[in-house]
Parts: sequence; structure tokens; C-alpha cells
Amino acid sequence: MVAQDYPDCERDLLGEVRKLVGPGTIIGVELDLHTNMTESKIRDADIVVLYKEYPHSDVNARAREVFELSVKAKLGQINPKMALFDCRMVGFYPTSRAPLRQFVDAMAAAEGQGGFFLFPSRTDFSLPT
Ligand SMILES: [Zn+2]
Repeated sequence: MVAQDYPDCERDLLGEVRKLVGPGTIIGVELDLHTNMTESKIRDADIVVLYKEYPHSDVNARAREVFELSVKAKLGQINPKMALFDCRMVGFYPTSRAPLRQFVDAMAAAEGQGGFFLFPSRTDFSLPT
């Protein structure tokens, strides 16, 4: 989500929702893989699912993942933990062809293995702040 003259409306929206619902409510969100991912978003949400595809052909599939993971978290079937790593790279790589196609396929194959639910990768249209 982008808003003119507003640096990170997703961060503020998630923070305000967390204040409203408190720590006992599961917050699951789906974000564009071009989001400005921050520690605060991971802190305020319980589940963050990013699109895997660019162009974004997987919006509905990722929404289903958010819903399914959120329900499992609410039922206590999973206890998701998230981590963020900034590799300090900016690039524009379509996932419809090599080498990103193979990378996304490898991420998808790894999901569900060893207790990992999702391996989101993201690219960013903005520079780190
Ligand atoms: Zn995008």
C-alpha cells in the first residue's frame, strides 16, 4: 500500500489494529511482495504472507494461506514465528522465468518441511531507510 506523503501506512494500520484488538487476537495479513517490510509489521501481525509471484498472479492463493494459517493459529495448532532478513539488494526480477522461477519453486517445495510454513521472498521498489 502506498500513500502520498505518508511513509508507511501499512505499519501504522497494523499498529493501530493491534492496539484495538490486543495481544490475544490473531492478526493475519497479506502484503504485496513489494511492501516495505519492517520489524514493526512482524511484531504487530501474527502472520504475514507476501505474494510470491511478480507479476502478482497469486493474490487469491496467498489470501487462502493467510486464512488457513490464521485459523490454525487461533486453534492453537501452530504457533507461528517470523524473522526478517534484509539482504540489501534491490532488483526487479519476474518470477515467470529463470532464475526467479526456480527460486520460487524451491521455496514452495520447502514449505511445510522442518516446521517452516512459508518462505516468503520479496523485492522492494524503494530503498532501505
Ligand atoms: Zn507489487
